[in-house]
Amino acid sequence: MTENTTTPTGNFITAIIEADLAANKNDGKVATRFPPEPNGYLHLGHAKSICLNFGVARTYSGTCNLRFDDTNPTKEDVEYVDAIMEDVRWLGFDWEERLHYASDYFEQLYEFALQLIRSGKAYVDDLNADEIREHRGTLTEPGKESPWRERSIEENMDLFTRMRAGEFEDGSRVLRAKIDMAHPNLIMRDPTLYRIRKASHHRTGDKWCIYPMYDFTHCLSDSIEGITHSLCTLEFENNRALYDWVLDNVEAPCHPQQIEFARLNLSYTVLSKRKLIQLVDEGHVSGWDDPRMPTICGIRRRGFTPEALRNFCDRIGLAKRDSVVDVALLEFSVREDLNKRAPRVMGVLRPLKVVIENYPEGQVDELEAINNPEDPDAGKRKVPFSREIYIERDDFMENPPKKFFRLGPGREVRLRYAFFVTCTDVIKDEKTGEVVELRCTYDPATRGGDAPDGRKVKATLHWVSAAHAVEAEVRLYDRLFDKPNPDEKVEGKTYKDFINPEALEILKGCKLEPCLAHVEPGYFCQFERLGYFCVDSRDSAPGALVFNRTVTLRDAWAKLQKKGK
Ligand code: ATP
Ligand code: MG
Repeated sequence: MTENTTTPTGNFITAIIEADLAANKNDGKVATRFPPEPNGYLHLGHAKSICLNFGVARTYSGTCNLRFDDTNPTKEDVEYVDAIMEDVRWLGFDWEERLHYASDYFEQLYEFALQLIRSGKAYVDDLNADEIREHRGTLTEPGKESPWRERSIEENMDLFTRMRAGEFEDGSRVLRAKIDMAHPNLIMRDPTLYRIRKASHHRTGDKWCIYPMYDFTHCLSDSIEGITHSLCTLEFENNRALYDWVLDNVEAPCHPQQIEFARLNLSYTVLSKRKLIQLVDEGHVSGWDDPRMPTICGIRRRGFTPEALRNFCDRIGLAKRDSVVDVALLEFSVREDLNKRAPRVMGVLRPLKVVIENYPEGQVDELEAINNPEDPDAGKRKVPFSREIYIERDDFMENPPKKFFRLGPGREVRLRYAFFVTCTDVIKDEKTGEVVELRCTYDPATRGGDAPDGRKVKATLHWVSAAHAVEAEVRLYDRLFDKPNPDEKVEGKTYKDFINPEALEILKGCKLEPCLAHVEPGYFCQFERLGYFCVDSRDSAPGALVFNRTVTLRDAWAKLQKKGK
């Protein structure tokens, strides 16, 4: 694996490409493409494909096209086209002027279909979809030939032309390749090339009422664009025979090589557009960009960075066999990137008020804090300290058990960058008994966080001055599914039964350091001890800040590595 995150080398695909370059195949050129269907938003699996296709183009000074495989008018929408372009750009890749649509090739594809008919390699079939399925046979039994298979070339030309002219109803006829109904590969048993679908297309409108099938379109679009290496996921392995057959049987400009790689599967995650659409449509999440979603727009809103995602794609590498990647590795990649770049600030998510009784009323100390210990250039800032502060409710226990070293009655702790404080009194709600306030004293000699007499404390707490605090809503996220493999077949259940009801927790009235008063969407930071956070791009507004927790500080991945798992 290389250091440069967007130029992968050293995998089986780059080995093929390097061998091709050495043999001067394709005149020494490398041309790839990323070919999404605009029928949903991109997810983390697509990110792997994007990094691969654009990455190898970059490594070998080649080109990578963005091509929309838009052959299914009923499921596609410009909303998806726009979102996909935004996501690819955000990931850091540029298709320059090489933006293409399969629908731009409809006329050429039609000509290729006519070529097949003229050479007796395609025919119009009047069987309906069910009949075609019944004729197909099984893995152990050959298929049956359609009674319409031996139509003359003239009749096929006439019928196909009339299909295009809109003379026949949806589903009444199809164009099929004439290959072999006994072929061991079921895909090769006279596959459908065109179907009638009287539907408006988001780009070609009502110009067409016949639409080419994916397998016919994909290889020819690759060829028209001069693609050299057509990289796709393993489920297309069986389709490769058809990919090659089509290119071998028309006058194709060139014959790209299809190479399959394993798709990305992630634990605690579903990566299938069909399922993600259901989550959105059925209201299990607030939308495609819900920060719990494994979509690129969802994780962007959650605060993941393109650098982290590219590093992740680099780390998982490329294989020829399917496997499941631990989502902890993704979280690790985010943490690793943010650790270098995120300023540290203090934020109290579940505030408990503390009054420091021996601190003069009205006085404010401006204490010096380090912005990022990982980045010496990040500098320092001043944090105001005053008589009333907030600490985290969890950082106090009235009857602390043995291993709890934080604040308790009579105990002394350090307030980060500030002073040592000792808890002298606990104030409770008379009715509920809930702790509502603490009284403390501070030691002025410990300013900055160290005692001149060398005495030690066992805990350092974060805090925010009450008078200076900025209020915010903070949204904590966890994994959307609480089962490692939500797709696993379980009797009577679907992946939706494993949605984690605790994946979103909304905290209101959180208290943040005043330096965060004017931060805007796109801002990210670490709340000390709590994790990495970012300003929500949809719901945050000046005066009504909303932060998302991107990831906690707990590194599950490093722990797993240590255990040697
Ligand atoms: P899904 O299976 O989620 O419905 P798809 O494969 O239908 O996705 P496309 O828009 O056709 O989605 O995908 C565009 C490209 O992204 C294809 O080349 C596809 O192979 C690749 N791709 C899709 N999912 C993954 C994945 N999980 N890992 C790697 N590549 C993927
Ligand atoms: Mg697909």
